[in-house]
Amino acid sequence: MNCTLCNTVLVDKMDDVYFICSTCNGYVKRNDLFFTAENEKKHYEQHHNDVNDTGYQNFTAPVTNAILKLCKPNMLGLDYGCGKGPVITKQLTEKGFCVHLYDPYFYPDTAYLNYTYDFIFSCEVFEHFYNPFAEITKLYGLLKPNGLLLIKTHLFNQQTDFTNWYYRKDLTHVFIYTFKTFEFIALNFGFDLIELSEKLIILRKK
Ligand SMILES: [Zn+2]
Repeated sequence: MNCTLCNTVLVDKMDDVYFICSTCNGYVKRNDLFFTAENEKKHYEQHHNDVNDTGYQNFTAPVTNAILKLCKPNMLGLDYGCGKGPVITKQLTEKGFCVHLYDPYFYPDTAYLNYTYDFIFSCEVFEHFYNPFAEITKLYGLLKPNGLLLIKTHLFNQQTDFTNWYYRKDLTHVFIYTFKTFEFIALNFGFDLIELSEKLIILRKK
């Protein structure tokens, strides 16, 4: 199997489920363990993503706050992989932002592809990408020059016990990123890294 982000042949294993890529430092799940689309959708339908739930709002707050700080309401945004309860978009819309929604299962309309965006955000989505190379290439193309890509995913650090980590154990997660992986992405796709922290990454298209 090759790395789904950088195409390097995967050799080293972290455990019986995940490879570690020697080039991009991503953790890549064995592709024979990927869910079918049908099972994946069933799994997501069980998520409790109520837009009025304050716990869920707090969970997504780092992304919402970054957008409120860095973007203006006249800008066009895309909520990529918004799930069944697009809480960030609801909060931004209340403040006058215009945001398009896309989710392959819950908002599958592909009209979003006909626009370019000042900002795109993807909250707890990147770790589900079967093909991160194709997804990031697409998102890059959908951004205007200097457009922002805001990502919430939990980066792995070496102090964590990988095999027992909650993010590793989630059955729908297939690619886990490290700080180095996002440095690789910025360099190879053409982004400046604006923020790189454990649960929030902000990239700006060059
Ligand atoms: Zn790789």
